Amino acid sequence: MTRDARHPATMLEAARAHVRDVLAQAGLDPEAPPPATDIDVRGVITRLSSTGLLEERWSSSEVEGLILCRATAEEVALVNPGLALAYSLHSELVVGMCRRFSRGAGQGSPADEFVTGAGNGERIGCVATTEDHTGSNLSMVQLHAARAGGRWCLRGAKRYTTSGDIATDAVVLAATEHGPTLFLVDLDDPGVHRSEPFSTMGMEPSNAVRLELDVVLDDRRRLGPPGAGLLIVSRFLRMERLVAGLTSARLATESVLLARQFLIGRQGPGGPLIESPAIRHRVAAGSATAASLAAHADQVFERAVEGTVTDLQVAELKLVAARGACSVIDDMIQLLGGRGYTEHFPLSTWWRAARLMRIGGGTDEVMLEIIAAGLPAPSRAALLDHCAQLEARHLYPGRAADAAPDHLGAP
Ligand SMILES: Cc1cc2nc3c(=O)[nH]c(=O)nc-3n(C[C@H](O)[C@H](O)[C@H](O)COP(=O)(O)OP(=O)(O)OC[C@H]3O[C@@H](n4cnc5c(N)ncnc54)[C@H](O)[C@@H]3O)c2cc1C
Repeated sequence: MTRDARHPATMLEAARAHVRDVLAQAGLDPEAPPPATDIDVRGVITRLSSTGLLEERWSSSEVEGLILCRATAEEVALVNPGLALAYSLHSELVVGMCRRFSRGAGQGSPADEFVTGAGNGERIGCVATTEDHTGSNLSMVQLHAARAGGRWCLRGAKRYTTSGDIATDAVVLAATEHGPTLFLVDLDDPGVHRSEPFSTMGMEPSNAVRLELDVVLDDRRRLGPPGAGLLIVSRFLRMERLVAGLTSARLATESVLLARQFLIGRQGPGGPLIESPAIRHRVAAGSATAASLAAHADQVFERAVEGTVTDLQVAELKLVAARGACSVIDDMIQLLGGRGYTEHFPLSTWWRAARLMRIGGGTDEVMLEIIAAGLPAPSRAALLDHCAQLEARHLYPGRAADAAPDHLGAP
């Protein structure tokens, strides 16, 4: 039975093929990724934007746009996950926020100009929320924006800003008298100092830098109402987390495919290594975990496409998919032997990327907090009572049975 061309799964397959074509035009083949040192992040983002991919993402319907976002994140991650992170922060967060808030600020506003410049590849955005003393608890940001004569004086520093070395603009979260507020900062302003990149475990050729700001901004550079910064960031972070979950699941799947191909060709004493029971079972276990992550990713993505996905569901996906990808890719590295540890195969790059997914955009612990807070509180007392009853029934047969609750879930 053939699927309708408007079915989301069919649209996703078509979007993946389209993104692969666009990448091929930019000289990038997900099946033969270039070494990270040969990738010019700024040049690739410019080329991807000027082919119309960015415009297509944002001018299509909401459903088509989300599908293209997923296809782009996954296919670019197979070329290079660091590049995918830089592109996704640029497109999903900075362009997304500027499009959202350029409407209020009117034509010719800095946000509006950024969107136009991003569309033709001239402007690249980055997101600066983390600071030296806080990343997980953004209500504690210290970079301060003081109002003076209708303008804002921003002073302070941000840390680990991905693409801060190549971006033209940064969305900056600052503390104000109204509460945390977002601003669009021109990184060529003389009051901006960009540090040398931090030396990191992975995600090359993308770099994370420290930004020191001492700038005065027009009020039109404010994104959203004063004091609404955390609310806006959390809405857009949901997208970053969704992309991290989807990409992690895809990297897990691809790592199993790659290991399997290698083991089919690799000869042991009794034939191809894939036929050795110990190896077959390890591949099977990796494949089962990857299939489960992919199914979870598809389910959460389907909800996102319907517009019903929650922060809790996205947190669950990011937590489980990033952890699962680390574990599956690690096993597949083992199955490739020495090759798994070299840079000739992409597994080590993928593992380091999956490892960052457990930290960036909200750590595992932050995801666990969101999940814990979303547990159904009203029935918890009944559940605990039920546990006590079960234990009592075991310890004091006869006495507890009468008192055992006949249902769960009642407050
Ligand atoms: C390569 C890289 C790229 C990055 N890119 C960007 C970027 O582009 N923009 C940006 O703004 N940031 C970026 N970051 C920063 C990243 O988002 C933060 O590192 C992350 O959110 C964690 O914050 P932190 O490093 O300050 O850790 P901390 O908040 O200091 O946390 C330290 C530990 O304590 C735990 N913890 C903290 N608070 C709680 C709590 N309330 N409950 C339970 N556990 C808690 C954390 O989970 C963690 O295990 C990047 C980081 C890296 C490494």
